[in-house]
Amino acid sequence: MGIQVYNTLTRQKEPFQPLEDRFVRMYVCGPTVYDKAHLGHAMSVLVYDIIRRYLEYRGYTVRHVMNYTDVDDKIIRRARELGEDPMALAEHYIEEFDRHMRELGLLQPHVKPRVSQEIPWILRMVEGLVEKGYAYVLDNGDVYFHVPKKADYGKLSGRKLEDLQEGFRIEPDPRKKHPADFALWKAAKPGEPWWESPWGPGRPGWHIECSAMNLHHLGEQLDIHGGGQDLIFPHHENEIAQSEAYTGKAPYVKYWLHNGLLIVGDSKMAKSEGNFVTIDDFLREHEADVLRMMVLQSHYRRPLVFSDATVHQARAALERLRSAMRPAFPQAQGLDSPQAHALREHAVRARAAFQEAMDDDFNTAEALAALFTLVRHINQARDAGATDEQLQPAQMTLLELGEVFGLTLVKEGPAHDVAPFIELLLEVRQRLRQEKRWDLSDFIRDQLAQLGIQLEDTPQGTLWRWK
Ligand SMILES: [Zn+2]
Repeated sequence: MGIQVYNTLTRQKEPFQPLEDRFVRMYVCGPTVYDKAHLGHAMSVLVYDIIRRYLEYRGYTVRHVMNYTDVDDKIIRRARELGEDPMALAEHYIEEFDRHMRELGLLQPHVKPRVSQEIPWILRMVEGLVEKGYAYVLDNGDVYFHVPKKADYGKLSGRKLEDLQEGFRIEPDPRKKHPADFALWKAAKPGEPWWESPWGPGRPGWHIECSAMNLHHLGEQLDIHGGGQDLIFPHHENEIAQSEAYTGKAPYVKYWLHNGLLIVGDSKMAKSEGNFVTIDDFLREHEADVLRMMVLQSHYRRPLVFSDATVHQARAALERLRSAMRPAFPQAQGLDSPQAHALREHAVRARAAFQEAMDDDFNTAEALAALFTLVRHINQARDAGATDEQLQPAQMTLLELGEVFGLTLVKEGPAHDVAPFIELLLEVRQRLRQEKRWDLSDFIRDQLAQLGIQLEDTPQGTLWRWK
């Protein structure tokens, strides 16, 4: 039957058929880089990482673009608070987010455009919209998109222009022709980053960047546009209006995918709510796959609840998957041939169930259930005396499907296993130091250093890390 995806635009599941056979143009709205990223940002990038991995597993070639918003009111405000240059501040958080993406085991997007590097494309689009009569220029050099000119405005969010008028009544801007009109270009204010334009020095409004970057890096129409549900209105609605008005081609995006938000208590995790956990803080205590597992255990369109309980569940689920990768018992006698055959059959069935679940709008929770069934059969087979050779086909299937999810089921490298032994050595060294046996305590430190482990003595005790 092929892959079915839920399309926010049509509010139904549709067969997935990219504009060009087997080639997928995918754009995901990235972060505004003005502060440390939190788990809400991580969740969104993880969702589209998993979707991309699955599409690639199913034989598609995916071109994946994610933007960095490095010119924005929030960046300018925060830079002012800190007395820093806004572009330098943005650069710092872009580097940090790039690091987070590596730490979280994400496939790198093929292009990561930034507003500051796309200005010519943005200007060309704004000029075109003015020429076509979709946008108008104010005396001060601001340029606005005239929403009523785009007759089908509101088709993504299901909002009507009359209702919007209602919503904007609180603070109507008298310079705008319609309360729903939005800024494409803003005249520069003192101390802000600015670029030359036909309307004087200024900078882009927020919405135009994604339309311009898509046109530049993916073309006039794309297959998948992703982002959080909080971006449907006005951001994505405005993207559609700008792009379709400029190119004259519809649909701008064939499939609109929106992920649910990360919830803490009863509100979304956000900087403004003060309820956020930074990616750095989370990764200090947990490995990245725990977060990935949390995302997998919930459907991407549903809200994801962040709590001690859900973190614990994710960690336990991860350990359960890994338990299947253990080797056979040394004294294993081997399964008889019908038993061995049955295990191979379970692996074939698990793959089919996994694919069926993922084909159904990327139902990761259901696909995980298929993996857990396979885990149970593998572990039962091991208990029944299966040899490594007999376990291997099923284990390989599990490993491969885990990789489609981006999970590491077999931990490599010494860091994981040697930790308790290093801790033990440090404790011995601590006792030696208490007895002032410096020769031996230094010997331990130097030998560990030769093995690539660096010690740091602090008032709270000795810390260690890989050099
Ligand atoms: Zn965007």
